[in-house]
Amino acid sequence: MEKDENWLDEPYDPESRFADMGDIEPEFWLKKPLEKMNKKEWELLCDGCGKCCLNKLEIKGKIKFTNTYCRFLDTQSCLCKIYPERFRKVNDCRDITIQAIREKPRWLPKTCAYVLLDEGKDLPNWHPLKTGKAASVHQAKASLKGRTLINESEVEDYENYIVEWKDL
Ligand code: SF4
Ligand code: SF4
Repeated sequence: MEKDENWLDEPYDPESRFADMGDIEPEFWLKKPLEKMNKKEWELLCDGCGKCCLNKLEIKGKIKFTNTYCRFLDTQSCLCKIYPERFRKVNDCRDITIQAIREKPRWLPKTCAYVLLDEGKDLPNWHPLKTGKAASVHQAKASLKGRTLINESEVEDYENYIVEWKDL
């Protein structure tokens, strides 16, 4: 992972999220609603796909995703390069809350773990909570890694970059 001026901390190893699961109830996501999750459980639900960091347009009441991405997204790891500072540095960076998950029109991708659980579905088999490996989201090609992406700093008209990927 290349380090640049946006990094605030040492590079973060995504696999470390799953290193200490001793205090986590197995399959907790099947046993309690999102409203009852504690902070650690809530954070573990994120699959690390990075798709919520794509820029979107609202057109005629529908969200259209583009293949342009927030300049603070690391497109190799699909992680935010400024995670602790994201809301201070990026005005439209959104927190993932119950309200945000249920917002209409939906701006999170259909594969988002929070959306799936809120719809009463299980997590996909590639989800890191099922595999124990953060990298499984990339191996399943469910993340942004390897896709054709444009840094938002190079974009003038977002309408030229609308994509209809089936997992959005
Ligand atoms: S779309 Fe959902 S699962 Fe994917 S990175 Fe964003 S919050 Fe996490
Ligand atoms: S600042 Fe927000 S939108 Fe940008 S990469 Fe970080 S989490 Fe994603």
